[in-house]
Amino acid sequence: MEVPKTITCVDCGQLAHRLSYPPEEGWEIGDYVAYRCSGCNDRWDLEVCDEDAAPTFVSYASEFRAILEERGKSQV
Ligand SMILES: [Zn+2]
Repeated sequence: MEVPKTITCVDCGQLAHRLSYPPEEGWEIGDYVAYRCSGCNDRWDLEVCDEDAAPTFVSYASEFRAILEERGKSQV
């Protein structure tokens, strides 16, 4: 299975480059692939899925951000 070398960052629309090297046996469903955005420098961890052979965005980053925002609100 192939995963793209670059993806489009959902935050800023810039190219994000793959950080992870392909495993010897190739990518498998459920593997995580890390990308680093060249625009906002965010890291994205995508999960490989078989649907369309393109990794899907995992919501870690946005969930984490939401938690921080919630904490920020509760402190105010
Ligand atoms: Zn970005």
